[in-house]
Amino acid sequence: MPLIIKGVEIKPVDSIKYLGFYLDTYLSGEVHVQEMREKVAKLVAGLSSITGLTWGTPLVHLRKIYMAVLQPQIMYTCSTWYIQGRKGFTGAQRVAEQAIQSIQDQALHRISDAFKRTSQQALEVCLHVPPAELTLAKLAEEACLRIMTSPLRSTLYYILLYRRKWLDNGIGAAVYSSIGQAYKPVGSSDTHTVYAGELEGIDAALEILLQSQPRGDNPHEATIYTDNQAAIRATCQPGRSSGQYIIRRIVRHLGLLRDNRSRWRVRLQWVPGHEGVPGNKKADQLAKLAAVEATRRFAKWWKDQWEYAKHGRHLYRIIKEPTKTVLQLHEGLQRAWSSVLIQLQTGKSALRSFLASVRIEDSPQCQCGLGDQDTAHVLVRCPIHINLRLKTLWKEARETDYRKLLSEPQWVQQSIDFMMWTGLLTQFRHAIPLIITRSQ
Ligand SMILES: [Zn+2]
Repeated sequence: MPLIIKGVEIKPVDSIKYLGFYLDTYLSGEVHVQEMREKVAKLVAGLSSITGLTWGTPLVHLRKIYMAVLQPQIMYTCSTWYIQGRKGFTGAQRVAEQAIQSIQDQALHRISDAFKRTSQQALEVCLHVPPAELTLAKLAEEACLRIMTSPLRSTLYYILLYRRKWLDNGIGAAVYSSIGQAYKPVGSSDTHTVYAGELEGIDAALEILLQSQPRGDNPHEATIYTDNQAAIRATCQPGRSSGQYIIRRIVRHLGLLRDNRSRWRVRLQWVPGHEGVPGNKKADQLAKLAAVEATRRFAKWWKDQWEYAKHGRHLYRIIKEPTKTVLQLHEGLQRAWSSVLIQLQTGKSALRSFLASVRIEDSPQCQCGLGDQDTAHVLVRCPIHINLRLKTLWKEARETDYRKLLSEPQWVQQSIDFMMWTGLLTQFRHAIPLIITRSQ
């Protein structure tokens, strides 16, 4: 049967776009994730147009573009479409996580120009981009905090504050004033709305006024502040509003207060949030504390994940803990140098040990016959490059710990230069003239 409103037939659709978010029939977010995926794929491809191996945007800038432009696009409204587990949403959760992980993986590979086989977890540590599921969880938590502490939702704070004291689980109303304070449990949050809580709050304030009539003949003015406009409108025009049973009580109490014998002149006033109310300040403090605590918790989460990760162990021996300081190593480096650094750190470079592991070379052995040709061997041990090493890498001091050579700012540039001079990283041979130009 067609739905017709004002002569126009409303046709059913599977999804609609509202404020940039695609709502689907099951509210699972799957349509949005699909749409986002297609849109962001174009943006990631766009990264290529500003990247080139020797020329082009330095790695640190590309990372900034990813964090500031691409990631917000990817995560847009994620607190609505990323629903963690439970109630039949596990499928949707997995789809969302996989989509975002794969986008991040592609973007980080493009930014770093790393080999395909370089693990995503390693690149995330190298570029200090938190894992996607961590960013999602963090954004969801922030959204939740924002709602809980928003001025328009400060009522929720009262519910939490008083829940333990008065009520096992439910909506309530609290009134603070110089002549008294009150709390009214309204009902369970399943059956009652915050709006009902606000109405109860207004009624509780009226009751306090009724119980404490001022002395003397002069009328006294009482103002009831609320941040809920709907509640004010409902008390002025009770006709069609919901919460009729409370409104009827409010109207009766207002009538008693308007009676000639009452000394009160009552005013209802809207305020943007419960500003200046002690409870609001407390909620603010709690929010700040929660944010600090969350940052610490997420950092530990990432650290643990990195410690026990299956892949990226070569990098783990050099960088034990995800830290922002890794970015300092790339400051002032041209793109090719950044790429070499990441290849050496992750152990996924054109050296034989890696090439043999992907069956491009037959043996991982170095020509010198003294061991596998890997990062550490070439940097500090291989006798074939001893002269070059003494002339460049060890010109001023001799550092034999390859981990320091690849993680301490004073060594990084020399280590990469040395590696390029060896000519072993064939991919970067064309970049060698750049070292010569720089040193002239
Ligand atoms: Zn060797």
